[in-house]
Amino acid sequence: MARRATVRVVPLGDRQAFADRIAEAEHDGRTTLGDLLREGPALALQPLDGLAGTPVVSLSVELADPGPDEPLYRPPGMVVGGTAADAGPPADPGPPVEQRPMEGARPAAGHPEVIDEATTVRIAYDEQIRQTAEYLAADLSVLVRCEKLLVEHLALEMAGRSGHHVKVIPAESAGGKPSGVLPGGGAGRRQQILTELQVAVRHCGKRDVLVVAHLDLLAGGSDAALGAEARELIDVLYERSKVVLLAFVDPSLVIPEVLANRFAVRVDIDILPREVLAETGEAIPIGTALVTREEAERFEGFQPVQFYKHIAGLNAVRLRHAMIYAGHVHPRGVFQDLLDELRKFKARTTASSFEVPHVTLDDIGGYAEVRKELLRALALLNEPERIPKKFRSELLPKGFIFYGPPGTGKTLFAKAVATAMNATILVVSGPEVTDMYVGESERKVREIFAEARRNAPAIIVFDEIDSIASRRSGREDGGSRAGNAIVAQLLTEMDGFRPEVQVLIIGTTNRLDIIDEALLRPSRFRAVAIGLPDRDARREIAAVHARHFEVTVPGVVLDRLAVVTKDMNGDEIRSIFRDARVDQLLTSPDGDVGPDRLGTVVGRLRQGRHQRDLNREQGASDHPEADPPATGTDDDVVL
Ligand code: ATP
Repeated sequence: MARRATVRVVPLGDRQAFADRIAEAEHDGRTTLGDLLREGPALALQPLDGLAGTPVVSLSVELADPGPDEPLYRPPGMVVGGTAADAGPPADPGPPVEQRPMEGARPAAGHPEVIDEATTVRIAYDEQIRQTAEYLAADLSVLVRCEKLLVEHLALEMAGRSGHHVKVIPAESAGGKPSGVLPGGGAGRRQQILTELQVAVRHCGKRDVLVVAHLDLLAGGSDAALGAEARELIDVLYERSKVVLLAFVDPSLVIPEVLANRFAVRVDIDILPREVLAETGEAIPIGTALVTREEAERFEGFQPVQFYKHIAGLNAVRLRHAMIYAGHVHPRGVFQDLLDELRKFKARTTASSFEVPHVTLDDIGGYAEVRKELLRALALLNEPERIPKKFRSELLPKGFIFYGPPGTGKTLFAKAVATAMNATILVVSGPEVTDMYVGESERKVREIFAEARRNAPAIIVFDEIDSIASRRSGREDGGSRAGNAIVAQLLTEMDGFRPEVQVLIIGTTNRLDIIDEALLRPSRFRAVAIGLPDRDARREIAAVHARHFEVTVPGVVLDRLAVVTKDMNGDEIRSIFRDARVDQLLTSPDGDVGPDRLGTVVGRLRQGRHQRDLNREQGASDHPEADPPATGTDDDVVL
């Protein structure tokens, strides 16, 4: 067995209590050295060299006394010094602490053995953490826009590395309490935190940085006319503009601009980087740095580079959650299994109903031209590395509009594309988006896109996109104010696409003629016609559904079916097999679905159409010379 590394530590509090804590950690087997030191709190007498994530049980931890000039080292994420809990003048800075860059910001060159959330965040966002810490060290206030799951870890890292004395508001956020909501809750609690903040601002010293973990929630979370909470917060933060602040807001929440202006610098933490620098100085894929060796081995053929596009939009903590989920539900498998599980994880953990599609291009009959066009797009989407970097955002397709009569498989094609991209898919009904209050629709569109980015690769399908994106002017029905704003929002979102995060928009419509031209520019949506199927396509569609409903159909019968289903769409052809299957199950459960039964159903279907045509004709009797209906029979069709 390898010799255990010895780590000498200096507790900042009760020595005996800390010795007991070491014994406990050795016993539970899970507590890492980082946890032990942070909880202690305690400092190490040597650089931690990546040991912070190692369980205490695999180390030899000894209590020691520091010599007068010996530097002390702390684990990543540890704050040394008071929090605003004391709300008094700047606390005693405590023992001298080396303010060098913290240990372990760079990962080893291969997969780590173990990795905790704090380390994940530190590795993934090392660059932004370093930059932010530098701004803070230069006494510049920083506003960080990132998802709430990251706040706790980022706050401690950024402020901790600044070299300033750190105070956290609310105080309990510093202790690793779950972030995301204001602890406690309610207006009373908000008031309490505001007071805490006010006291801290008044007492803040020159080398202090004040961390506001959830600025958005304190502000009342609205960009509308300034509410009372926002006003109060503005008063507090502007009271002493010299105080160095580090505040966090969630990208889905908006804060008043005047509040944001209090900060000299804004930092966005959105997508994961493709690569990070290892301690050796070489760039390694994020799929190597943030995935443990065991996880990579669990999914045979794991490809760290390919992996990136499936996780680019996740934040680092959510990536770790996704990996743990995948390993839990799929203890052994191949790389594709991991991708499938990641998709399921994303679909399950979103507010909107993103789904994992099950349709493949093989489930769609006919339409060779459409298929060819989509395969070309997929070749680029699935291997963006084929495109030189500088052209990527221009050459990657952003959207399609599938247009044609109902029931021809437009939604089906969208789902098949999603499957081929390993993407999640969200089908949004156009009218649902437009039937909202002014302003609400744009917010909805913004949210849908944000969620799609977080779950990339993703496809958003806008069914009946004509209801959203009808022409902005020149038509009585298409120029409404709300409609304009939604189109504008849609365009903004599409223009802001980043090639790393694959989001494809597919609109479906029966009315291409009323779609806003701005959307039909080649760089935005490409229009693809999906009309009624021709004879060959009808034969193929029939074959697909015969297979699906397990009906054996000889080739000659398929030929006949293709003829007698003239003018029918894919949905109707499917219904022939479905209805014949139902008839057979009800009348002769042990029998087969033979050509006779199919013929009866086709006859019924054509009769129904005939009747509908007649009714329509009667309704339109002021047009006596209307064309006679195309099909019409009362008989079964002989196949
Ligand atoms: P709408 O415009 O009414 O939304 P759509 O064109 O999106 O219709 P889909 O919902 O994709 O039509 O198709 C409905 C059903 O019809 C599908 O679930 C599928 O079973 C069947 N279908 C349509 N076209 C095809 C096809 N080309 N191949 C196989 N099945 C098809």
